[in-house]
Amino acid sequence: MVERSNQLHDVIVVGAGPAGSTAATALARHGRRVLVLDRADFPRDKPCGDGIPPGTVGILHDLGLEAALRAAHFQPIDALRLVSARGRDWRLRFTPRREDSGFYIARRVEFDDLLFRHAVACGASFLRANVRAPLVENRCVVGVRADVDGIERELRAPVVIGADGATSAIARALLPDKPPERHRAVAIRAYLDGLQVIPRAVEFHFGARYAPGYAWVFPLSATSANVGVIVRTDRFKRRGIAIEALLHEFVESRELRARGATVNALQDAATWQLLLAAPRRVRRAFDGAVLVGDAARLVDALTGEGIHNAVLSGVLAGESVERALAANDVSYGSLRSYEDRIQHELGASIRRSYRWQKYVAAFPPVLEALFIGAGVFRGRVTRWLDRISTDYRVAQ
Ligand SMILES: Cc1cc2nc3c(=O)[nH]c(=O)nc-3n(C[C@H](O)[C@H](O)[C@H](O)COP(=O)(O)OP(=O)(O)OC[C@H]3O[C@@H](n4cnc5c(N)ncnc54)[C@H](O)[C@@H]3O)c2cc1C
Repeated sequence: MVERSNQLHDVIVVGAGPAGSTAATALARHGRRVLVLDRADFPRDKPCGDGIPPGTVGILHDLGLEAALRAAHFQPIDALRLVSARGRDWRLRFTPRREDSGFYIARRVEFDDLLFRHAVACGASFLRANVRAPLVENRCVVGVRADVDGIERELRAPVVIGADGATSAIARALLPDKPPERHRAVAIRAYLDGLQVIPRAVEFHFGARYAPGYAWVFPLSATSANVGVIVRTDRFKRRGIAIEALLHEFVESRELRARGATVNALQDAATWQLLLAAPRRVRRAFDGAVLVGDAARLVDALTGEGIHNAVLSGVLAGESVERALAANDVSYGSLRSYEDRIQHELGASIRRSYRWQKYVAAFPPVLEALFIGAGVFRGRVTRWLDRISTDYRVAQ
């Protein structure tokens, strides 16, 4: 039996990760009745490197999270270490030019809970529900079908925001074409205690077995870190090496062993997939629905970072949905302003990252040559990065 609910909400947000909680907050602050659905209760973990990319915190400050983020004392980052496949080491220091452009490491179990609780504090309602599919009538999304406490229910609202991540049930129904394997990645993360960490530095280690991906060490304290590996799905399948084996290989590398790492100390290893943003324009708005965050395929193709774009897309979706509701027009024609804003704000960086991943990171010898060049012209490269960076002062 299917239970049908009367329409009590203006918007249903499916998924309470960074994208969903941000969209819910933006709309609740406009006084909209927002229902957030998630199959998990919060706090919940999400497999991630826990790197909160530059620019994210500034967006969250504008949504009223400044005091909460300050109180959370997440690990600030002001150094970058890149290690080539042949062990060439390149380090940079970067200091934010503005306070809100910082880069942080924050365990997702805490970070996502903070965003989720803020959405609820701003007035969004939460229901634990496993969403099966959007409800579509006359080609317009009018709600969702979901399992709530073992009962199948139909929940209705004028707009549905699909924020349910890389395996989104909403995107699967609205965007039936699966992205090709070269536009997807698989990644594993684990927590590692007893590792000698470079304070406040994120490390990216390149290697032929990961290309065009990398292995990372993101510090959580002086002796603990989030470590992991990301590989593009087509390369991963072609090489036929299990992702856990790649992580173990990295942890057992000479350098990490010398710094105290052992495979036995790995905890909470978890694997998940990423949908990489590609230059070809993707539908992200529909009659009665929009897609945000990973559901909208917005992960940076070079770095694998998705949190900044998730949060930004949540805000942009919130603004477009608010305008559509105010105009009483939730058709694609009205909601496509969201799609245009995404293109405007992120189009250039999506294209740039895609090209660097495809033409540089995918070829270890090209990357090695770049390391050699950067080593020879270290001073010049650093000064150039300092000049072009609007957010950071860059130094050696
Ligand atoms: C191993 C790994 C490391 C990464 N490291 C980084 C990093 O360091 N920095 C970075 O910026 N990005 C990183 N990413 C990417 C980042 O994790 C994602 O881009 C980000 O989580 C996207 O946020 P989101 O809100 O779109 O989706 P999610 O965070 O995935 O949230 C989706 C939510 O939807 C819920 N949900 C899913 N399906 C349903 C359903 N059917 N019904 C109801 N609820 C549902 C889930 O429970 C979840 O709460 C990494 C990804 C991986 C896999």
